[in-house]
Amino acid sequence: MFKLLVGGELIDTRAHVAVVNPVDETVAAEVPDGDTATADAAVAAAARAYQRWRLTSHAQRRECVQAISTVISQNAEELARLLVLETGRPMGIAQFEVGLAKQFLDFYADQTLDVEILSEDANRRVELHRKPLGVVAAIVPWNAPLYLAANKIAPALMAGNTVVVKPAPTTPLTTLRLGELIAKAVPQGVVNIVTGGNEVGAHLVTHPDVAKVAFTGSTQAGRAIMAAGAPSLKRLTLELGGNDAAIVLSDANPKAIAPALFGLAFFNSGQVCAVIKRLYVHESIYDAVCSEIAALASGSTVGDGADPATQFGPVQNRAQYEKVLRFIEDARAHGKIIAGGERRKGPGFFVPLTVVRDITDGTALVDEEPFGPILPIIRYTEVDDAIARANRSPYGLGASVWSSDPQKAAAVATRLESGTVWINQHCALDPAVPFPAHKQSGLGVESGREGLLAYTALQVVNINKAVG
Ligand code: NAD
Repeated sequence: MFKLLVGGELIDTRAHVAVVNPVDETVAAEVPDGDTATADAAVAAAARAYQRWRLTSHAQRRECVQAISTVISQNAEELARLLVLETGRPMGIAQFEVGLAKQFLDFYADQTLDVEILSEDANRRVELHRKPLGVVAAIVPWNAPLYLAANKIAPALMAGNTVVVKPAPTTPLTTLRLGELIAKAVPQGVVNIVTGGNEVGAHLVTHPDVAKVAFTGSTQAGRAIMAAGAPSLKRLTLELGGNDAAIVLSDANPKAIAPALFGLAFFNSGQVCAVIKRLYVHESIYDAVCSEIAALASGSTVGDGADPATQFGPVQNRAQYEKVLRFIEDARAHGKIIAGGERRKGPGFFVPLTVVRDITDGTALVDEEPFGPILPIIRYTEVDDAIARANRSPYGLGASVWSSDPQKAAAVATRLESGTVWINQHCALDPAVPFPAHKQSGLGVESGREGLLAYTALQVVNINKAVG
């Protein structure tokens, strides 16, 4: 039986809610149905714990974050199995996510926040301190529940904050299990985990004792959070939606790059903020790239992630599944489907890997974020036009340029309006590298040292040494 973690105690609620297995739509587990009262109890516990935690040394914080990392390593198989259960994804992707969560915890455990001396002379010394903010509400989506929670918990704790984590209502299992496993390893109230729907997230955002909201999710919810946080001037980090463009230049070798383009568009069945979601290909190699990618998609096995033969799992939940099916119907009307596209009979949220050619900007599939296994391939003639089309989007998370000449690709890359631009790769994540967002893909930054500083407030200590 899963429990919430509040103030160091594993607690239940009177009501329970079913978590649906996306593979067959059966009940994967029942979990406590958190509400605004449990969220209040978690914030109160976090606020109490903050009074001690804010005064801890780097070594104490490091020990705590390392303990969470060790718990993850020691229970990696079980956590990966739970990720498979709640997302339907293949074991390999689940293990990759568990490893990523650990890498981010380990990176932040080693980050220090030393006092900087800005200036000093015989009479005066000016110091810059980094102070914690208080209670952080960490609100997480369903596509990478463990990694995205770890990438909030670790920097928040290392900066001296305490945390209330709220996983997505459709993927609470791995996060709740993590809570049970760390309950003894972490001081009471420093990490709290509550369940609940969007209303519990919204409640945390307006809570007077929450200092910062660290949110990953849709741009739509991000806007609501920014508005709701305004009256109390909440500190915000918003990691939101993306519609990443990849531009393939005319000198690229279609056969050589197709497997990478395919893998980086369909990783986790396209349910990643920064995978390739719009592929712009020069007309001279357009047909070749389309057929290579279509062949890879048609030859892939979509199924239950628990089956070792499965390469791609289902869409994680019914609402998203129906949204992806609408994108496919729109693509059928505006382009030519060259792989997938058919609706699978039977239970489960399975969508065959779908590739669409002869489609262009101005259609839902190209302009919006499908967040599922469907890729539009768009033909271009002039590279300036491809850049303009890639930039004509409210999103600006990631982008990539593909060429046999990395220098030539770099010249194109710097003209793209996105937080990260990759060359001959995409979605390469590294704990030491910030993951910024432009435009409506977010506000503030996660990952890297900048991701740690985002959990601090600057304080200047200005000392007059001449007196006393
Ligand atoms: P979502 O915005 O619907 O929900 C995310 C979380 O926010 C859930 O826990 C939900 O309960 C909560 N929530 C929803 N509305 C809220 C509100 N008004 N106030 C407070 N909390 C609220 O997103 P989703 O469908 O779970 O996730 C998919 C989206 O996440 C995609 O758009 C994807 O691109 C984005 N995403 C972004 C990144 C990134 O780093 N930029 C990473 C992963 C996913």
